[in-house]
Amino acid sequence: MGSLSVIHQVLVGSVRRYSAMAAAGKGLLFRQLFEPVSCTYTYLLADTASKEAVIIDPVLDTANRDAKLVKDLGLKMVYAVNTHCHADHITGTGALKKLIPGSKSVISKDSGAVADIHIQEGDLVKFGNFSLEARSTPGHTDGCLTYVLNDKTMAFTGDALLIRGCGRTDFQQGCPHTLYHSVRSKIFSLPEDCFLYPGHDYTGQTVTTVGEEKRLNNRLTKNEDEFVKIMNNLNLPRPAQIDVAVPANLKCGIQD
Ligand code: FE
Repeated sequence: MGSLSVIHQVLVGSVRRYSAMAAAGKGLLFRQLFEPVSCTYTYLLADTASKEAVIIDPVLDTANRDAKLVKDLGLKMVYAVNTHCHADHITGTGALKKLIPGSKSVISKDSGAVADIHIQEGDLVKFGNFSLEARSTPGHTDGCLTYVLNDKTMAFTGDALLIRGCGRTDFQQGCPHTLYHSVRSKIFSLPEDCFLYPGHDYTGQTVTTVGEEKRLNNRLTKNEDEFVKIMNNLNLPRPAQIDVAVPANLKCGIQD
């Protein structure tokens, strides 16, 4: 057993690591950006061959920064995508559309928000040789989508799943039962080594994996009843920006 099994494990380990990085090795440009007031992550993905790019969850306050980065890197941003209609910050999709002519805004049909393109479960957001598959993961809001990269090495979970936690279920159309089933059926069913990139982090962490969250998530490792109890007893203050952010985000972040 001994040494042969160790060699096998090392080989399996390196294959796994290789597959996790395969997307990057095959011409994917990837940037994780941060907006510190709302602790929001914005993600820029591009196909280095065609230069087509997608931005996920841009924030209004950092739209100029993001547009400059797209320009500096010589990218052609085709889509500005939201994971959901946010309550804690104003989306930058409307502003980016103006800063980058020709780009289109994208959000789920179920969000009820205005956008150039409405998508739902199973739809693909294509950029060059890559695509993001939309998986419907309601529970934080009705219209929450998780975007999964075509080779399943990365997924962008919005607020459905956060590192060791999850988004709140006590405002908008929040429902802890729905969120519990969304995460377990649509996110935990991805490969164990799939990297998960959340919509926010409040502790300075940047990325996790499916395997890590299945083992270590403080809430989603519990059974459904315990999860619902935790979510119904968070007693968090109402998001400061909710009355401004939600109406604005229903219109791509463009205020009248
Ligand atoms: Fe949210």
